[in-house]
Amino acid sequence: DLFGSRRNSRGLELADEQVLEPLLTAISMAGSNFGTAASIIDGVDVKGASRILLSPIDGKTEIGRVIDADAETASKAVAAMAAGFRPWSETLAETRASVLERAADILEERLPAFLAVLALEAGKTLADGIAEVREAVDFCRYYAAEARRLFGAPVAMPGPTGEENRLTYRGRGVFAAIAPWNFPLAIFMGQTAAALAAGNTVVAKPAEQTPLVGAMAVRLLHEAGVPASALALLVGDGTAGAALTADPRIAGVAFTGSTDTAFAINRTLAAKRGPIVPLIAETGGLNAMIVDATALGEQVTDDVITSAFRSAGQRCSALRLLFVQEDVADHMIGLIKGAAAELKVGDPRRPDTDLGPIIDREQTEKLAIHVAAWQGKGGVLFSGEAPGDTLAGGTYFPPVIIELPDAEALDREVFGPVLHVVRYKAKDLDRIIESIAASGYGLTLGIHSRIEATVKRIVERLPVGNVYVNRNMIGAVVGSQPFGGSGLSGTGPKAGGPNYLTRFALEQVVSINT
Ligand code: GLU
Repeated sequence: DLFGSRRNSRGLELADEQVLEPLLTAISMAGSNFGTAASIIDGVDVKGASRILLSPIDGKTEIGRVIDADAETASKAVAAMAAGFRPWSETLAETRASVLERAADILEERLPAFLAVLALEAGKTLADGIAEVREAVDFCRYYAAEARRLFGAPVAMPGPTGEENRLTYRGRGVFAAIAPWNFPLAIFMGQTAAALAAGNTVVAKPAEQTPLVGAMAVRLLHEAGVPASALALLVGDGTAGAALTADPRIAGVAFTGSTDTAFAINRTLAAKRGPIVPLIAETGGLNAMIVDATALGEQVTDDVITSAFRSAGQRCSALRLLFVQEDVADHMIGLIKGAAAELKVGDPRRPDTDLGPIIDREQTEKLAIHVAAWQGKGGVLFSGEAPGDTLAGGTYFPPVIIELPDAEALDREVFGPVLHVVRYKAKDLDRIIESIAASGYGLTLGIHSRIEATVKRIVERLPVGNVYVNRNMIGAVVGSQPFGGSGLSGTGPKAGGPNYLTRFALEQVVSINT
């Protein structure tokens, strides 16, 4: 059995009316207001002035409120988790694992409620919401299994001189888990579950755009049996985040978000006194796909559309830069444009929607500026349609395809449904590989080629974290495709992989002269 006793969560057959209809009913029963997200310290909501949260779907539905934490609240959260560290770190790995498994079970039961909040707060389509809940469930179960494997018993090391050598793991202390808005449940739960599984207490901070999902996740973890003294929630903007990472009592930071913020956290950690703190960062990518003349057109089309436009391109794994061999470029680009024209942008709760909204106005404006610049230079090959009047206040952006003269014309991650295409000559493949390496990013890479030697050559030359051959390049599966990159894309270790949990733990070796 490939997976041992653990199984990944199961999908839903949305094409089946018997499955879809009750699900849609349950989602609408969950309503559209999710209360107030406050920071939670020792199980108690922290009071304060709240601000209204509006849905990106229409810019006017009030989905709840948030009480943004200040630096003092951050400090109190860390103090509480420092106090809770001893007892939680001394629980058996088995106990911590069972609690996470219970959380996974509850999460599965509450699928419709989470789909509702994921759609209204984060703009997730049904398919994306389901994938996200499944990933969160898988992270909990996977790290539970890993905690048993790694931390269940001391590891006996050889003792050539007759000594007994034992390696054990324990929690490091208070971990800061800082999650992004694009996977407000899966990555939020993944970081938190990993840190908890390794015996740390956690101050978890959701992105400022998605505090409601974060609050629901933390309440669920408490309900599942994570002690209130082992997990605190800190909601708010960069002020709270900066105070959290600057706190001298923090023993580790797990961060997923922009490369710039990772640099800022690194500087903060380097500047403060106290223990030298590890940073586990998963950041952006300038992800390329190389399509040569042996690739199959229809398959490339489907995989490009999924990789560039699913989740409205708001994945760090998404395809940004498509290299197509000149000989087949007109044909391939024609197919891709045709397929992009079929995509439907709109309300993410509708089952036929392909692209939901962009997370907020600021991101939409950045996309608009980028596309307008290329419009001016005549590079825009295709631009889709935004939804009509009823969603006029929402932050939508249509799928766009831009042709670039060369790879160097794109030097930054453009976080949305904008695909860039570059034509290349077969003899220039090495130069293309060099230009991908020169970007400094190393997250995902797609290759469509039927020539084994070409695939091997590309893979060997590029230290990219996740390479996908003859398929799409998003949606890494927990336990099967451990996820994370190198260089400007992050520090590793890979989430959902066998080396993740140990980075959240301290190692101790006891050598006994018997
Ligand atoms: N793990 C996700 C994927 O493989 C991407 C995570 C992210 O965007 O941060 O698509």
